[in-house]
Amino acid sequence: MTAERVRVVLATGNEGKRRELEALLGGDWELVAQSTLGVEPVEETGSTFRDNALLKARHASAATGLPAIADDSGLEVDALDGAPGVYSARYAGADADDAANNAKLLAALADLPADRRGARFRCVMVFVRGPDDPEPLIADCSWEGRIATAARGAGGFGYDPLFVDPESGRHSAQLTADEKNARSHRGQAARQLRDQLLGRHGSG
Ligand code: IMP
Repeated sequence: MTAERVRVVLATGNEGKRRELEALLGGDWELVAQSTLGVEPVEETGSTFRDNALLKARHASAATGLPAIADDSGLEVDALDGAPGVYSARYAGADADDAANNAKLLAALADLPADRRGARFRCVMVFVRGPDDPEPLIADCSWEGRIATAARGAGGFGYDPLFVDPESGRHSAQLTADEKNARSHRGQAARQLRDQLLGRHGSG
């Protein structure tokens, strides 16, 4: 029996994210960005990545009647007890841009030696079959590294210029998109969620 393509809403307005994840999931899955279905983003009021990812997925599913995928991500810095965490995008204020967030982070870690600059990017990516799904699929992945004392590289976004990947010794903003995707929190979470989805639905 040939499986029908499964239509899933992705809680994003970013077409690049949609395309990348759809390619990773394979031909049995059709991903639609919530923005193309007229769904407004929900306010991220959760105190954990998991809560926020589930909030976004349940909201997208309730608004569309489709199964949904959502993610939430951020940077956890050991010397800051895990901050900025779920507040990564607004670390330096509600309207803060990447430059302001990076400047605040550098100032917060000023004078800390390399062995106390440990940090990780985390991404939680979830799948719900419906808005009240009691058994969502959840992938929670980390990319361990440390925060540099100065920015380097022109790629990526957010804290990429300050995040050092220990394996290559390069800053995340110096990696190509493929290199970053192979090791990043988001790349890992997407692959792990795909494996869980294929485990549940079979590969076709
Ligand atoms: P989200 O869109 O709610 O998941 O917020 C993610 C925020 O965390 C971004 O605005 C960035 O500040 C930070 N962040 C998450 N992933 C990355 C990454 O891969 N590189 C750099 N910053 C990231």
